[in-house]
Amino acid sequence: MDPERAKKLLTAQLAELDEREQRVRRDQGQPPEQQGMLSQHPADYGSDLTDEMERELMRKKISWERQQINGALRRIATGTYGRCRVDGKPIDDERLEAQPTAELCLRHQLEAERSGVR
Ligand SMILES: [Zn+2]
Repeated sequence: MDPERAKKLLTAQLAELDEREQRVRRDQGQPPEQQGMLSQHPADYGSDLTDEMERELMRKKISWERQQINGALRRIATGTYGRCRVDGKPIDDERLEAQPTAELCLRHQLEAERSGVR
């Protein structure tokens, strides 16, 4: 995988993450002046809580993905990108194209999944 190509893919993913994060922020909660009204409707309160939990999960997922992408960008900078973290062998272009943050070759990815460790 050409590092420039990888960088482009990763940067595009970062931009997408930013967009998703903004969407989560926009959906966030009611303006403070409506909170008093909301508390008079206990039935609605439950669904608000679920939404809040969903957003929390989304935020965690986004920040985790951001870490993965930043890690991959660091590996590009240090010249270790596209090589398996276990055996140092090049990772298939096809695999990197589908998942630019991959840091294990297919063999070791499968092994890691089997043993339940990432
Ligand atoms: Zn490997």
